[in-house]
Amino acid sequence: MSSPVPKIDLKSLSPPQLEDLIRSFGKERYRSLQILRWLYQKSVHSIDEMTNLSKRFREELSKVGFISALHPLRVEQAKDGTRKFLFELEDGHRIESVLIPDRKRLTLCVSTQVGCALGCRFCLTGKMGFKRNLISSEILNQILSVRETLTDETPITNIVLMGMGEPLANYANTLRAIQLMTHPDAFKFSSRRITLSTVGLIPELEQLAKERISFRLAISLNASDEETRSHLMPINRRYPLGKVLEVCRNFPLRPRTRITFEYVLIAGINDSSADAKRLFRILRGIPSKVNLIPLNEAPGIPFKRPPEEKIRQFQEILMAGGMTAIVRASKGAEISAACGQLQAKSPSERPQS
Ligand code: SAH
Ligand code: SF4
Repeated sequence: MSSPVPKIDLKSLSPPQLEDLIRSFGKERYRSLQILRWLYQKSVHSIDEMTNLSKRFREELSKVGFISALHPLRVEQAKDGTRKFLFELEDGHRIESVLIPDRKRLTLCVSTQVGCALGCRFCLTGKMGFKRNLISSEILNQILSVRETLTDETPITNIVLMGMGEPLANYANTLRAIQLMTHPDAFKFSSRRITLSTVGLIPELEQLAKERISFRLAISLNASDEETRSHLMPINRRYPLGKVLEVCRNFPLRPRTRITFEYVLIAGINDSSADAKRLFRILRGIPSKVNLIPLNEAPGIPFKRPPEEKIRQFQEILMAGGMTAIVRASKGAEISAACGQLQAKSPSERPQS
């Protein structure tokens, strides 16, 4: 006897794949667009709720497909309003998403992998090691699940792929998820409100350049010379800073868009005036802005955050040359929701400080 064919998670399909499935039932394309709206705009939890499809079709579709969901195991809120959501996946792995209110914006930071293989020395996610890639429905369900918890507040305005994991190491699932985030019949986010943060994996960056993407790109630089970067980020030995910048320099950006360069400031490692001047020099000619992120300290991370004075000085050197440089406020640190602190541990496992 053959084993039953597993059902298809409808949210793991790209719009063209969903269309193919719908056509296999002899239905027209617009039916697949109706389904996208049920899945991502009305957030239904069962195929039977898709009431503009015939009862018969809903029954047939339910035989081959299902609708996945994520439910938060725990939600923590920091005094600054930042909320961290812990989700448990089907196989028991855990991931986190962080919701960050900032004036008129409400930004959701989503994870793309369970853990991360790249082992940057300042990052707790890196310390976890790599467990597995998220499939696109697991990326999208973070948005849907968080959205369901919002009552009459501002809707989510921005998505940043800056949670656990390296998005370009999970290229296909991440791009499929972004396709649905921006699709007019799915989430309808403007692509300018979606930012993907990466260490700069060269082959994948080159592929992105070919695909002429319109979402925003953030590159985690974190150092202005090869040696320091290799020390902080082992991936730099494979894909060196110089090569990453070369790809950025030639990247086909849309008019009026810039690449964001993220730079975690670490006391005594990469925070000197000479570092700032070198950073300025190496970014010259690339339409760019710099996000300075003072290190979020954590037990097990062998580095310190620079003093305020040093942070301001670093920023001023960049700005004096006409570069846009902002110091990113570290939100949610008290609930371990700030950059580099996502580890998906329960409060009892979290070291007390
Ligand atoms: N893997 C991707 C995206 C997730 S990390 C990347 O590295 O870009 C998101 C951001 O958090 C990166 O810019 C990273 O440099 C930063 N980060 C990691 N650990 C940090 C820490 N301890 N303090 C401050 N920022 C940190
Ligand atoms: Fe991975 Fe990004 Fe953390 Fe580096 S900073 S270990 S790439 S999640």
